[in-house]
Amino acid sequence: MAYVVTEACIKCKYSDCVEVCPVDCFREGPNFLAIDPDECIDCSLCVAECPVGAIYPGDDIPAGQEEFVALNAELAKQWPSIVQKIDPPADHAKWAQVKDKRHLLER
Ligand code: SF4
Ligand code: SF4
Repeated sequence: MAYVVTEACIKCKYSDCVEVCPVDCFREGPNFLAIDPDECIDCSLCVAECPVGAIYPGDDIPAGQEEFVALNAELAKQWPSIVQKIDPPADHAKWAQVKDKRHLLER
């Protein structure tokens, strides 16, 4: 099952993950990245690159984060591909510490 980006990525979006993906399956939204489950080959390389621990295997999602499986699948079909690291938002360090930010996800 494909890997999934979860809540911790919202407003952090450092994009360290995209450069290691061998199949370029990350998609970029306004303040979150999604993995296209139809493209992900389950290599797990992106997991260690994420400084906020936002990426999990689809069959081992933390409790409370299950909706992100469907969200990644849905949003990945709407958003453009991202293959190179970009500068994170100016306030990313602050948002990396915030746990409850699901409601801030922009589409
Ligand atoms: S490295 Fe982590 S926080 Fe940064 S864009 Fe990728 S999943 Fe999101
Ligand atoms: S698990 Fe591998 S193929 Fe899937 S998103 Fe991460 S780096 Fe890309």
